[in-house]
Amino acid sequence: MKYDSISAEKQTNRNRVYQLVYQQGSISKPEIATRLGISLPTVIQNVKNLQQEGLLKEGGVMESTGGRKAVSITYEKNARFAIGTDITRNHISIVLINLAGEIIESIKIEKLYENTPAYYLEMVQLIKQLIVVSGIREDVILGAGFSIPGILARNGQMLIYSHVLQVSALQCSTIGRGLPYPTELSNDANAAGIAETWQCKSQENAAYLSLSDYVGGAIFLNNELYLGENQRGGEFGHMTLVRDGLPCYCGRKGCVDAYCSAQVLSRHTGGNLGAFFEGLRTGDKSLQIVWDQYLSYLTTAINNLVVPFDCKVILGGYLGEYLEPYIDEIRRSVAEVTTFWGNEDYITACTYKREASAVGAALLFVRPFIKQL
Ligand SMILES: [Zn+2]
Repeated sequence: MKYDSISAEKQTNRNRVYQLVYQQGSISKPEIATRLGISLPTVIQNVKNLQQEGLLKEGGVMESTGGRKAVSITYEKNARFAIGTDITRNHISIVLINLAGEIIESIKIEKLYENTPAYYLEMVQLIKQLIVVSGIREDVILGAGFSIPGILARNGQMLIYSHVLQVSALQCSTIGRGLPYPTELSNDANAAGIAETWQCKSQENAAYLSLSDYVGGAIFLNNELYLGENQRGGEFGHMTLVRDGLPCYCGRKGCVDAYCSAQVLSRHTGGNLGAFFEGLRTGDKSLQIVWDQYLSYLTTAINNLVVPFDCKVILGGYLGEYLEPYIDEIRRSVAEVTTFWGNEDYITACTYKREASAVGAALLFVRPFIKQL
């Protein structure tokens, strides 16, 4: 019994040391001891063990205020890897990421979704090819996550329903058949939100608004995804924006989706969102009118998130790639209508301009590795 408790404490210290180094990126041993309230010899022993396992390493020499120089400890970001696959109606995107969430290899193909063994087999073959190309050993791959547009069972092992893909009751084991790793499903907007909030060093709250061909979203409380009672939390696309307004694909009228999806813009440039923003940038007057109208609705949608959640709102999805030059305009527009305003940094464009959903699906496996190490 006594041995067990000593062992548990060692495990906890080992994990706390690793997590702190991971969060900080680079930190000295004395600083670890101070921050965690444990003795320096304990830190030294734990760092040594983690170094021997290839999980931590020495970085450069750090300047310290006392004049003495300390060696920094960093984590080995290529000690483990994870795979993320984003399944959309028209494409398959696959990324291989390291522990830092950096994309090591990626592939994107145009492929119309179909719920057939041949489709899943082709996808699994692509994943296997990507790993071969990367030269990474299979035993350092933590798992394979699948981002999918739809409502999922809480355990991440079944897609209950996807309107976009027109499929229901789809098992994760069917999608990932033939892969020798753990597999898990994630809602596409939730996955993208996970990728966006991953780098937060402090405990933060955030609402992620996904502006793709469909509008979705995710809520993060203290960096943890809030799923709601039925895994439908953060479905911002179906908040009512205009009572009895434009029809939404969900069957109701006036939803945010009908006014703020990327299609509302791209339908004016033959479905090409890049062409829309290029036209807007070069002064196309008709596109400017479309944008002004869009911005008006987007402003209301953002305000409806800022007011109840009082937190950072991250704008992502397909639109996220193009929003950086317009973020000040969006902030000003929200500031004009909102009740409480004090920090314009509340509204930001996403960091991952592409493949956020695939990266987030892969990060599903990085988080438990870091927490349970
Ligand atoms: Zn709707």
